[in-house]
Amino acid sequence: MQKQRQIKAIGTSEGIVIGKAYIFSPIAGECFGVQKIKILKKQINNEIKRFEKALNKTRDEIEAVRNEAAKKAGLKHAQIFDAHLLILEDKVFISQIKELIAKKHQNAAAAFCSVAGKYLKSFEGISDKYFRERTADVKDVFHRVLHNLTGQTRKSLSELKKDVIVIAHDLSPSETATMHKERVIGLITEAGGPTSHTAIMARAMEIPAVTGAYKITEIIHENDLLIVDGSEGIIIINPSEKQIDEYKIKQQIAFERKARLLTAKDEPAVTVDEHRISLLANIEIPEEAEHAINQGAEGIGLYRTEFFFMNRNDLPTEDEQYEAYAHVARVCGEKPVVIRTLDLGGDKFASALNIPKEMNPFMGWRAIRMCLERTDIFKTQLRAILRASKIGNVRIMFPMIATVQEVRAAKKIIEEAKDELRKNGISFNENIQIGVMIEIPSAVMIADILAEETDFFSIGTNDLIQYCLAIDRVNEKTAHMYDPLNISIIRMIKIIIDVAHNISYTDENYNKKIKYPFAWNNNHKPIKVCVCGEIASEPLLAYLLLGLGIDELSTAAISIPQNKQLLRASSYKTAVKTSIEALKIHNSDDIKNLLIKQIFNLNLEK
Ligand code: PEP
Ligand code: MG
Repeated sequence: MQKQRQIKAIGTSEGIVIGKAYIFSPIAGECFGVQKIKILKKQINNEIKRFEKALNKTRDEIEAVRNEAAKKAGLKHAQIFDAHLLILEDKVFISQIKELIAKKHQNAAAAFCSVAGKYLKSFEGISDKYFRERTADVKDVFHRVLHNLTGQTRKSLSELKKDVIVIAHDLSPSETATMHKERVIGLITEAGGPTSHTAIMARAMEIPAVTGAYKITEIIHENDLLIVDGSEGIIIINPSEKQIDEYKIKQQIAFERKARLLTAKDEPAVTVDEHRISLLANIEIPEEAEHAINQGAEGIGLYRTEFFFMNRNDLPTEDEQYEAYAHVARVCGEKPVVIRTLDLGGDKFASALNIPKEMNPFMGWRAIRMCLERTDIFKTQLRAILRASKIGNVRIMFPMIATVQEVRAAKKIIEEAKDELRKNGISFNENIQIGVMIEIPSAVMIADILAEETDFFSIGTNDLIQYCLAIDRVNEKTAHMYDPLNISIIRMIKIIIDVAHNISYTDENYNKKIKYPFAWNNNHKPIKVCVCGEIASEPLLAYLLLGLGIDELSTAAISIPQNKQLLRASSYKTAVKTSIEALKIHNSDDIKNLLIKQIFNLNLEK
């Protein structure tokens, strides 16, 4: 057993767990989870022989499968396996691995993974659809070789037999979504910041998680005993009895606090001076809706529908989508359900759509851009949402809006979808509300124009911060620069809220010291603004948003009771004063201190 060790990384999903490590390395061809060992000179020949033996064994296995397939399905179908065999004959590939063993003294498994990883990356980067699709075949061959080298089998997170803390380089959102929820009690990844979709999913599933843990797959071994503190970002490997006792007490305190917070779940989210705002929930799968309502959610502020399109090789049908949306609408009754249309791309991919890997996926062919080209997929989804609008208070929201033309084009497609339903005698809410995500800086600057076209705004701060500060939201190396309290972000949020509410800068209630350099038009009716990015669940930011005049906060269900407690202890008047104060400060540390001071003065446990 390795010695005790404590590591600090990014706490991305709150909660404390104590359990055994499970190293997850889903893709052979990448080194994650494969131990890298420096071998001695005298071991080189033996390591090369082991590698050759693994190749031969893999070749025998594939030939056996090919013969079997030829018997059952005919020679034509068996030919696919000839391509698999060719991978094993690739002289350059094999010599690169042998060279790493001989010259860099790497163990065979690590050398194989390193070279295979590069091959996979180049395959995935090919723009030709046929070749890109062959990546799965190549991966399959690589898995076999790795298995024959190490005995390591391909792991799955959906079929776990015991409770584990998963250790991985990274998890795709689909791997996170299909995890065995009861068995995965904690999660640690090397990659990802607090707004990566893996972190968002972990919070939605209430699994304590720490991300950005540098080289953790090499540090932690399978079955090591771990303490994971997802609130503080602390990992303790092989803790002492004393530490275990200490963390068990912390676990109990957190548990009791949660239970106490829940007692106020049916109270309104109203400040001491009677200012009301709505607390809504973000969900990724329809089954989460019930839990959200049980946590006191006043509706669903963001239903991320893209998870429907992941973990499968085909596209969901209109009926399938309708059932899911209708389920959420039914659970919520009169309460609003904001269904966001497909936001694939960025760090969320669907296999059926074959979205090519891009240099800058967050700025690429994604979300509304993709939907406006693939109108077949878009309209199917819109028809399903419209049909569900008959059941409850369903609304439509478009993601990643950068121009008003996109909104107009998307609305036109809604009209076409409505026409199709009318022709088929299918009823829906004719006046369904349409909103947009404000998450691209260009949308902030045309907020007045967008408000003329829409019924509500929802600020996607996860993306808005990344685009405004040019900080990749999933890159653990820049996570410390991803700063929601940067004055540029606070100003942007203030502009969005004021413009949406139609508050002109000459109004008395506006801080006259900050003047916009041009006049916004105010041809539109005032509309509501929600924040559905992860900042809405951070107490300091939730308080600041209250003061900036936000109407709604939409968060993971787990954060609703805490936000309610904060609001019910706050004075709106003081929060407004604090936010005006914050707008005058240019340094985020000073803004943070100001907010801490305010929250410290609140009587939270009243
Ligand atoms: C956001 O960008 O803040 C948001 C809520 O959407 P997503 O995290 O799904 O990109
Ligand atoms: Mg977004």
